[in-house]
Amino acid sequence: MNIMKTYNFCAGPAVLPEEVLEKAQKALVNWENSDTSILSISHRSKEFADLAEQSKQNLRDLMNIPEDYEILFLHGGATMQAVMVPMNFLPAGEFCNYINTGHWAHKAIDESVQIGDTRVIASGVDSAVNTDWPVDPAAAFVHCTPNETADGIEFDTFPQTDVPIVADISSNILSRPIDISRFDMFYAGAQKNIGPAGITLAVIKRSFLEAAREDIPLMMQYKKHVKAKSIYNTPPTFPWYLAGEVFKWVKAEGGVEEMARRNAEKSLYLYDAIDNSTLYENKLPVEVRSKVNAIFHLKDDALTDQFVAQAKSKGLLNLKGHKSAGGIRVSIYNAMPIEGVKALVEFMEDFEFKNK
Ligand code: PMP
Repeated sequence: MNIMKTYNFCAGPAVLPEEVLEKAQKALVNWENSDTSILSISHRSKEFADLAEQSKQNLRDLMNIPEDYEILFLHGGATMQAVMVPMNFLPAGEFCNYINTGHWAHKAIDESVQIGDTRVIASGVDSAVNTDWPVDPAAAFVHCTPNETADGIEFDTFPQTDVPIVADISSNILSRPIDISRFDMFYAGAQKNIGPAGITLAVIKRSFLEAAREDIPLMMQYKKHVKAKSIYNTPPTFPWYLAGEVFKWVKAEGGVEEMARRNAEKSLYLYDAIDNSTLYENKLPVEVRSKVNAIFHLKDDALTDQFVAQAKSKGLLNLKGHKSAGGIRVSIYNAMPIEGVKALVEFMEDFEFKNK
């Protein structure tokens, strides 16, 4: 049978390294010669404790996370973190600051508003270009989203402020070196660069953790999860296992520096094609174009659906833009090879030629 080679540009759940999937396939039946499925390993067993510790250490090494940051593997996705952050760190009678760079920042603001006094101090693409945000020194924390998955915006500079910075790095975690010492906390849903949907990372500086509330439901308390080493209740064991395998894969491939090199190469190749075309356009300032979620629009928007459908027929999958942004979105996380981007650019050129 002739199976067509496909490239999956989904923003998440995203493509995972083939080697990891093949190993996981075996582990589903017989994990590490234990004659037991990875799905049936007790989260309280020594074996799982070792897996958990190793995955944590590998993440610490990969991201250079100092020892005074606690690493949590939690349920609930990045959205649950958007809830837990203000629940834990916004005391009654105080306020927090948010930067509204796009769709996901906005969703985090919507959650925080439910919990307490949430003040947006900068909005729009400008707030990603000029990151000297007017943080109120009295704020309990300031929240930002350094890679906006839906809008294709990424930034890497942060204000000098004594106010704790909390960052949602769901879509660019492990895609390049990130100076996480700038953050008092960061979090990330797994389903892009870490593993499958179902597990979420939350990394919190111990000095910041001290301020976390203890008068909220126990399951929502960061301190409880830290004390229980992320096993306060049954954790998503299989996603955790897979995340650990992805960390090993990133290490073996050369670490986040090598991922950054590959992601820069892939995104430049794609943005060059967009900028040299008369059909496709990306109007974002070059300095904030995301290296992992590239977006573009067809100048004749009526062609967008055809573009997506024809691309799909060529094995180029999940290119439709997020519903909030429209157009096309190309997610090129770590597991997407340059060949996928080259195949897409070839298709884009052909499509443009046929629709002149
Ligand atoms: N933040 C960002 C930057 C995201 O890209 C996403 C998901 N695309 C979310 C938050 C929400 O993540 P989840 O679905 O895991 O709650």
